[in-house]
Amino acid sequence: MGQDKFQGWMGLDKNAIGNMKWQEFEPKPWAEDDVEIKITHSGICASDLHTLRSGWGETDYPVVVGHEIVGEAVRVGKDVPTGIKVGDRVGVGAQSGACHNQKGDCEACADGMEHVCKYSTDTFNSNWPDGSKAYGGYANFWRGKYSFVTKIPEAIPSDEAAPMLCGGITAFHPLVQHNAGPETRVGIVGLGGLGHFGVLGASKALKCKKVVVISRSSTKKADAMKMGATDFIATDEDKDWADKHAGTLDIIVSTVSSHKMPLEGYLQLLARKGVYVHVGAPEDKMPAFNMFSLIPKRASIQGSQTGSPRDIKEMLDLFAKTGVHTWNQNRPMKEANEAVKDLENGKARYRYVLCNE
Ligand code: NAP
Ligand code: ZN
Ligand code: ZN
Repeated sequence: MGQDKFQGWMGLDKNAIGNMKWQEFEPKPWAEDDVEIKITHSGICASDLHTLRSGWGETDYPVVVGHEIVGEAVRVGKDVPTGIKVGDRVGVGAQSGACHNQKGDCEACADGMEHVCKYSTDTFNSNWPDGSKAYGGYANFWRGKYSFVTKIPEAIPSDEAAPMLCGGITAFHPLVQHNAGPETRVGIVGLGGLGHFGVLGASKALKCKKVVVISRSSTKKADAMKMGATDFIATDEDKDWADKHAGTLDIIVSTVSSHKMPLEGYLQLLARKGVYVHVGAPEDKMPAFNMFSLIPKRASIQGSQTGSPRDIKEMLDLFAKTGVHTWNQNRPMKEANEAVKDLENGKARYRYVLCNE
């Protein structure tokens, strides 16, 4: 049997970064297509910060953030069709619920893109179809629909797996979408939680021939090279960086979380037919750019969100096979307030993971 009440770090208002309160809360009413997870690990994504501070619009407080959840399945409904069993090591990422096109009118689910389902439930700051609130991973338990609950491959330890479920798939999936491989020249902008997975994924999993990290300063250069980067650009330290490296990259994945960025310079780095994918989610509008940064090269700019359960499974299997290891820093669950402040202050190298005792 599962639990009636869970406990977690509640954000109560827009000052919640550093001020979350450990409180009891009621999970969604149990349904037979649910899985309940005893959480062992919960990664800290910058999306948690945007939500805690109502940066993307007013958050529906109280909120328990955290959407890089790994733990043990302790209760599995009889209608769960995916073969997850009690005792399995499982995880869930940024989305939790999808309709699987049961109503017949969801193009995303019909297309295998459950992560952008018309009726989706996000892991936090969202509601289940029965109206109850969805609560995330800074907690002792998680309960939700089976849709995004995935088994963790044996070769990946839980603390390394948790950050892959949002940060990993978000940075890695654009590379897969654009068929990155040994002939591809990749740029990763911003070496944070997402960005470090972009570098590891491009270099170790996809064996891309060129992996350039584009960061503000050179402080992370040695780490980037250890992760497999072949080149490093520090945009605040070299005023000619965009001219020097113009036209050299086929795919750029940008994880920059603030609107304060030299976007036109990033676009200048694109080669002919290159694509710039911005996955970072700034709270303000993106900078304007001149269309001629794209027109003569037939280049494009696009966005991308996480990945489907199948994308996540394929990534985990490939990461396991190619030895992609998360650079995580584990923190006790009780330090959640300090950890979110540290991430906000740019101290993470490269993903904090909250661990339950
Ligand atoms: P993070 O660990 O804080 O990394 C963000 C990186 O952006 C920083 O390490 C920094 O890299 C760079 N940056 C450049 N300008 C910055 C500025 N003015 N302020 C702060 N950082 C700046 O965050 P994350 O967890 O990787 O998340 C990155 C963004 O992706 C967030 O906006 C998050 O909400 C979003 N996100 C989107 C999706 C999606 O589905 N699209 C999924 C998850 C997260 P350097 O120090 O190297 O310059
Ligand atoms: Zn996330
Ligand atoms: Zn759907």
